[in-house]
Amino acid sequence: MDAKSLVKPHSAIIVGAGPVGALLALALNRRGWQITLIEQHDFSQGMPKSYDSRQLALTAGSVDWLAQTQLLPELMAELTPILSIHSSSQDNFGCLSMTHTEMKVAALGYTLSQQTLGEHLFAALAKTSVQLIGGIKLEQIHQTAMQVNLSGTTGEHTQHWQADTLFAADGAHSWVRQQLNIESQTRHYPHQLMTGVATLSQQHNNLAIERFTAQGPTALLPMKADNQAKVVYCYPSEDSETTQALATDELLQRVNYQLGRQLGNIVQLDAIVHYPLVEIRANEIQQGRCLLMGNAAHNQHPVAGQGLNLGIRDIAAVYNWAEDADTLAWFDLANTRTNDHKQTMNFTHGLVTLFSHPSTLVRSAASVGMGLLSFARPLKHRITRMAMGY
Ligand SMILES: Cc1cc2nc3c(=O)[nH]c(=O)nc-3n(C[C@H](O)[C@H](O)[C@H](O)COP(=O)(O)OP(=O)(O)OC[C@H]3O[C@@H](n4cnc5c(N)ncnc54)[C@H](O)[C@@H]3O)c2cc1C
Repeated sequence: MDAKSLVKPHSAIIVGAGPVGALLALALNRRGWQITLIEQHDFSQGMPKSYDSRQLALTAGSVDWLAQTQLLPELMAELTPILSIHSSSQDNFGCLSMTHTEMKVAALGYTLSQQTLGEHLFAALAKTSVQLIGGIKLEQIHQTAMQVNLSGTTGEHTQHWQADTLFAADGAHSWVRQQLNIESQTRHYPHQLMTGVATLSQQHNNLAIERFTAQGPTALLPMKADNQAKVVYCYPSEDSETTQALATDELLQRVNYQLGRQLGNIVQLDAIVHYPLVEIRANEIQQGRCLLMGNAAHNQHPVAGQGLNLGIRDIAAVYNWAEDADTLAWFDLANTRTNDHKQTMNFTHGLVTLFSHPSTLVRSAASVGMGLLSFARPLKHRITRMAMGY
């Protein structure tokens, strides 16, 4: 037996088996860590609820990282490339187009359903030594200088876990964040969001469309079938009851009106889901041996498609840190992640408020700015690369 094999491996508890917690578990397992992944959802009922039909836009940066680490090699075949993006503002002439050839990349981004991502994550976890525990009601968290202790119940039984580190990936209303008394800032948007699967009157040709309107942004993301796209449609919160009660045909007409004719018409709308829109930012993301990740640290408006991408950058940073698990670098980790969270969330919030501003004048100015950006090539490239996750 060599000296290395006598060293006790690092251990971590991850709370929450959503996409961030599950992917982090795979990443740390790859580093040789002992991982306990704890989820409130009972797995005998299938996957946790956040693995629904929502279509994710993954940045080229996220997909590059997944390809390099080979954590989910079979996932790559499920991705639909976005080859061009057209952004415009309703009632104003300015628009911005980007293509993968112009950016000299294979794709500007990729789409994938969160449900498919979940199927691949749990299939991969089943092949590892990660201890996956579902159906837990967490009760207490306590940390010392050396370790974190957590307890929870399943039915009548109380269970206790210990590890060197705890990662909280338990979503926007994080239990861990509350237990650690970490305060957060909440911002409610004046609109809500509907997603659905659109059947188009023509092929999408891997084009994604984003259209800003006074009542919030609307978007189409290409899906695997060449005439299907995911619709993201915003409507005012005060109309939520009437909008949610609309017959599918009426909803379809509204969405077609908002989107314009860039990809012909939507002829059918299925798998409709409504979501409230809220931004939640944790005031701090680290306390002792605990670190907040993904939506537990930053829950944002989905319009810019940055939520999970930012979560993947959290995982990539922890994966790099875990190679040496240096104590001093643990504190730098929180600082670097917080800067990225601030920058990305400000970008997303700025986009939503500017283009959905109630004043026509402000929206027009934003639209003119977007048109001018088409001519300012270096700036356009810089912004496109940021949206691509680089
Ligand atoms: C409509 C929509 C479209 C989106 N589109 C995009 C996109 O295009 N691109 C993008 O990057 N992002 C997008 N997002 C955001 C993305 O879906 C989220 O960022 C992602 O789900 C966050 O993952 P998470 O694991 O941090 O949190 P969650 O998905 O919320 O998972 C948290 C997990 O923790 C569990 N949990 C909660 N409390 C406890 C507890 N007390 N004990 C144990 N377990 C607990 C939950 O059951 C859940 O499984 C979109 C979001 C929405 C709503």
